[in-house]
Amino acid sequence: MINRETIDNIITTARIEEVIGDYVNLRRRGVNLLGLCPFHNEKTPSFTVSPAKGIYKCFGCGKAGNSVNFIMEHEHYSYPEALKYLARKYNIEVEEQEQTPEQLLEQNEKESLYNLNLFAQQYFTKTLLESSEGKSVGLSYFRERGIREDLVHKFQLGYSPEKRDALSENATQNGYKKEYLVKTGLSIEKEDRIYDRFHSRVIFPIHSASGRVIGFGGRILGSDKTKAKYVNSPESEIYNKSKTLYGIYFAKSAIISKDSCLLVEGYTDVISMHQAGIENVVASSGTSLTHDQVRMIQRYTPNITILYDGDPAGIKASFRGIDMIVEEGMNVKIVLFPDGEDPDSFARKHHPSEVEKFVQENAVNFILFKTRLLLDETKNDPIRKAALIREIVNTISLIPDRISRSLYVKECSALMAISEQILLSELNKILRAKIKKGMPAEEHETDVIPEEQAAAEPQLEIDLDSPEYQEKEIIRLLLLYGQEIIMIKLKSTDEEEVPVQVADYVLNDLLNDEMGFENEIFRAMFEEYSREAETDSIPDRNRFLSHNDPEISKTAVNLIFTPYELSQNWLKNNIMITSEETRLHMHVMLALHAFKAKKLDKMMSETQKQLAAATIQEEQTELMKKLQGLKKQSIRINKDGLGRIITR
Ligand code: ATP
Ligand code: MN
Repeated sequence: MINRETIDNIITTARIEEVIGDYVNLRRRGVNLLGLCPFHNEKTPSFTVSPAKGIYKCFGCGKAGNSVNFIMEHEHYSYPEALKYLARKYNIEVEEQEQTPEQLLEQNEKESLYNLNLFAQQYFTKTLLESSEGKSVGLSYFRERGIREDLVHKFQLGYSPEKRDALSENATQNGYKKEYLVKTGLSIEKEDRIYDRFHSRVIFPIHSASGRVIGFGGRILGSDKTKAKYVNSPESEIYNKSKTLYGIYFAKSAIISKDSCLLVEGYTDVISMHQAGIENVVASSGTSLTHDQVRMIQRYTPNITILYDGDPAGIKASFRGIDMIVEEGMNVKIVLFPDGEDPDSFARKHHPSEVEKFVQENAVNFILFKTRLLLDETKNDPIRKAALIREIVNTISLIPDRISRSLYVKECSALMAISEQILLSELNKILRAKIKKGMPAEEHETDVIPEEQAAAEPQLEIDLDSPEYQEKEIIRLLLLYGQEIIMIKLKSTDEEEVPVQVADYVLNDLLNDEMGFENEIFRAMFEEYSREAETDSIPDRNRFLSHNDPEISKTAVNLIFTPYELSQNWLKNNIMITSEETRLHMHVMLALHAFKAKKLDKMMSETQKQLAAATIQEEQTELMKKLQGLKKQSIRINKDGLGRIITR
């Protein structure tokens, strides 16, 4: 358990823009920062971060929270795990009690898999660097491949010994369960015994974006044709191949700072590029990119450069996959390496500065690259050329941005020696067909939407007269200003003003009148708030922002992000206000009045209904009394203080 003090320290130290900035490319927009939402697929940014309030909210998918929520959501961490992550990031010492064996048992399965993977990685690395077999077989293999020792350390490379159950046995002795050994894929079960999947291989651990080991790749030493060259971890609860990019953890910050991501084939390419000083590089591990992988890159940059070894057949086969990347709105470039070279071998043979220069000078836009390559093949065959035009125009039609589309039409028409008009009419045919099929019409038919306009925060639609709105307003004031001081006139003297904390005033006022909340979430929040205020101190809003109940934390964020609702209510009633903070006192009064008036209205109409349905004399008298009482209250409330009802 992490103590409250440490939690508060972490939450106040962690700056939301820095925490999220590790994952999302954020641009300043007014007082907020704006980026592409990492939780859903979008092309126009609607993911908003407020550094002042310490919270984020996506106006597209509704995900919202503070730094802790973000890490929980993004990394699928538990609450304590997210806190620990932030503590590590900000060098905050976490004061924690030792875990008891019971707590260890309770740890959820995912955590167990992560822990086991970490153990295995450390075992493989230690074996590589310290055992005689590891040194003579594994380490000398990496040396032969020209991988420097600092890279071995950085990528936490390892070695799994020849002994068929070396890891399985060691892990079991250290208390790791067979169940998890099998689930992570580290071990394979055969007739009640378990064997190491990766035995006699060098090991490439696969890290998540936050640096946790989620899987492994193992390469055989030498070139035994009867064995698979590479063996990889199977999918597990923590390893989803189509959502993983090898090297993303080590590339993240370079991708952001260079605003570009290089894509290579595999482990050794990534490592060799790093060795050549090029760090904005990831690998898709053998297959073509998936949607999820593209989106992962898109969070950091819209620019992707795919590095190919020079095999035209292989490249052509990948065109469809690249179309998909274009369709996501990414700028795709291609670098073709000389025949027989891949990024790995090229980087090993050349000086780092040459590698960088080669990539820069040879990166060709995908559409032009594709046009050239296909053009080479069609020669002067008119039928094949017609097919080529359709093929290219088809790819151009996938670009979401209209201006980019027309630029490509120009360039390709020059390359293919075909009039722009022909390409354009072909393009329009495809676009019209798409619109018919229900594709988003505005993007294809009209000009690009200006960024400002596209990113405007949607107006919230709320019913200002609903009781929920009044309840919401109370909670919002408590969260935002509970600890602030307002001056209240004492009823008894009617002269003297005393300082009172907003929370105390509100709670006191509402508890006295025994007014319940109708909305379940607001009620839960109100109850927790007043309980806490009574027994301890006025709770900080972070308590709700990082609440264990996701409904509550989401609601809290939404409330804090919509500061002007009450002002709208005031405007409606011709009350002029300057800013919320300066009129806090009036706000509190109005909110309480509105809440109570609304509540009384409702109680009165309910009583009236009951009265109409009542048949027994006594019951009728009872209800009449009740109704009168409510009316009196209502009149009192409306005369009280500001002397007006603002809810109608
Ligand atoms: P060689 O020394 O023969 O060139 P290599 O280890 O460089 O072998 P390649 O066959 O050149 O491997 O493949 C290039 C990259 O593709 C490797 O770094 C590896 O990461 C990746 N790769 C190849 N096959 C697989 C596979 N089955 N699973 C995952 N990655 C693979
Ligand atoms: Mn190779």
